[in-house]
Amino acid sequence: MIISKFGGTSVADAATIVRTAEIVRGRLARRPIVVVSALAGVTNALLGIARQASEGHFISAVSSVQELRERHLAEVDALLQHSSERDEVTSEISVIFDELASLCEALSVLGFITARSLDAIAGMGERASSMLVAAAFRARGIDAVHVDARKVMITDASFGAAEPQTESIAVAARAIVAPLVQDGKVPVMGGYIGASTDGITTTLGRGGSDYSASLIGAALQAESIEIWTDVDGMLTADPRVVPGARPIEQIRFDEASELASFGAKVLHPATIAPAVRLGIPVWIYNSRNPGGHGTRITFDAPRRSVTAIAAKRDTTILRVATGRMLFQPGFLRRVFELFDEHSVSVDVVATSEVSVSVTVDDTAPLDVLLGALRQVGDVSVERRRAIISVVGSGIADDASAMGAVLRALGHRRIHMLSLSASAINLTILLDDADVPDAMRALHAALFEDVTP
Ligand code: ADP
Ligand code: ASP
Ligand code: MG
Repeated sequence: MIISKFGGTSVADAATIVRTAEIVRGRLARRPIVVVSALAGVTNALLGIARQASEGHFISAVSSVQELRERHLAEVDALLQHSSERDEVTSEISVIFDELASLCEALSVLGFITARSLDAIAGMGERASSMLVAAAFRARGIDAVHVDARKVMITDASFGAAEPQTESIAVAARAIVAPLVQDGKVPVMGGYIGASTDGITTTLGRGGSDYSASLIGAALQAESIEIWTDVDGMLTADPRVVPGARPIEQIRFDEASELASFGAKVLHPATIAPAVRLGIPVWIYNSRNPGGHGTRITFDAPRRSVTAIAAKRDTTILRVATGRMLFQPGFLRRVFELFDEHSVSVDVVATSEVSVSVTVDDTAPLDVLLGALRQVGDVSVERRRAIISVVGSGIADDASAMGAVLRALGHRRIHMLSLSASAINLTILLDDADVPDAMRALHAALFEDVTP
């Protein structure tokens, strides 16, 4: 069997859902399990509604709920106009939006929101889209069955970024999903959402539907995992920043993983790990161009000096210096313990004899951590930086590629430079404002000026 995951733009409206149905129809012989995101833009809208309601703007929250309800019901009408299921699906989807409206009322009275309620709201997009897509497939003659992802995707209770419990997921997937496939049916489930062992709705973090697909694929030892999106695969750079970015036919797991973690939004950063464990290839395809080659992510893709570049914006650099570090073997341990104690995760690290520089997200809660770090050494904070990653499994062995990177950056100020521990990622910290320009210059030097 295979897992086919469709992102928001592949299930944005009736027209794209019909196209998705045709893609799935073309793969029936490979026994697909379908994972879908919320309709495009819906998760953002839901989070906006939660914020409005909890800030007491009840009327505007309710009118946004109404808009979302109407959008979904219009797609039900368009997709199920000749289906006997139309009324049933209309009421199932209405129930979700009734629940949302009641939650908004409660939140606006309370005036605050918990991570748990936020997940209950954020997960509604996938609950609705998966019901709609399953019914739309049936209306087109595909024997689809809706599966409530919360029965399968068992997680801990870390709302907003729940940790999947892989053993429980495997047991549930074998009990609930696999038998449907064996019966020749196409299970359709929402990505991104799960439930804690006591049944409370959780989410896997933004963009988490890719991760859901990969977890189900690993649980059922699928033959491949397909991520259907709106571009021709993994590209040499973010096409919104670098218009000339090109599709990559094959890429190594470690490279794809590094790119996802350092800003290539096309994949959720955790997607690769479950697939790597079992060596399941991951494909990225364009649902607007279903005949395209796509990108294959595997162990055996060729090694290249530079495979792609990515940027992670909104980064802060923290530098901790102590003149006494030479005589203090515990210095680094103490510094990293403090990050751990304050649950702040670190991206890039560079050390010298007397100081250590690390990068964290601009949104990381730093106040208390900074106080603690100041007990250890002198601390400076540089905001509005960005990490540029030049990823290639052969980069460490190619001095001329590294030279080309530095030359292409020209006069731009470099704040940190590091070759990652795995030696496949050259990370460079720049001013955030320099990113678009620097990415285009790097892309031109690394992918466009190359003479074969
Ligand atoms: P989906 O809704 O299908 O999950 P996303 O918006 O999460 O889609 O991811 C796809 C988008 O990722 C693309 O439209 C593209 O703009 C962006 N992107 C960023 N970096 C890359 C890259 N290196 N390759 C491909 N797409 C990228
Ligand atoms: N709908 C969720 C989001 O927008 C999950 C996903 O699309 O992968 O973050
Ligand atoms: Mg995505």
